[in-house]
Amino acid sequence: MAASTSLLKESPLDPSCAAYDHTVLAGDHWLHPVKKGQVLRIVDVEGNQAADTLFYNLHEPLDRYSASDTIRRGHNLYLSTGTTLYSTRSHALLTIVADTCGRHDTLGGACSRESNTMRYSFDVEPMHACRDSFICGVQQWGHGMNKRDITCNINFFMNVPVTPDGGLSFADGISGPNRYVELRAEMDVMCLISNCPQLNNPCNAYNPTPVRVLIWD
Ligand SMILES: [Zn+2]
Repeated sequence: MAASTSLLKESPLDPSCAAYDHTVLAGDHWLHPVKKGQVLRIVDVEGNQAADTLFYNLHEPLDRYSASDTIRRGHNLYLSTGTTLYSTRSHALLTIVADTCGRHDTLGGACSRESNTMRYSFDVEPMHACRDSFICGVQQWGHGMNKRDITCNINFFMNVPVTPDGGLSFADGISGPNRYVELRAEMDVMCLISNCPQLNNPCNAYNPTPVRVLIWD
């Protein structure tokens, strides 16, 4: 199922003017604040990579991204230009202001050792998964956070259409090299990305690749 082209929107922002520019290698995680009014761009550098992402209220970590509130208030299962991301305490965290991919998933969740074992084989159980990266990230942030604080996430650049009978299917990616999504922070947030290390996923042709993150003031 193709994404609606009406949601595709390019950004006028120039990467050479960004206040922050960093490449997150495949399998690594990235933890960084995005202040109110700043714009965060996540770039799918080589295409069809999954950027599993969590957002928290920077000043109140128990207030964090809520997939159910975002879907309910946005009247849409999929995230794209115009979507506002809401928190568990009903705050607007960020709004998607540009998107050259057109579809992002918030239903499929992050890969874990357990889900990889179910999906692929018992052999992959020791392999690093997004859930491990998220746990490293929240522990790095502090506040006594741990695996209980890994809640609903967004899978930027992942295409997870819902089938007519209500199932989830992990379809081929619709992203490509240098496609990006751009979000304006509506309040001070902490962003935690797990650049998916999954080597067994046909969606990324068994080849995890870098993502680039830029922030404009
Ligand atoms: Zn993953």
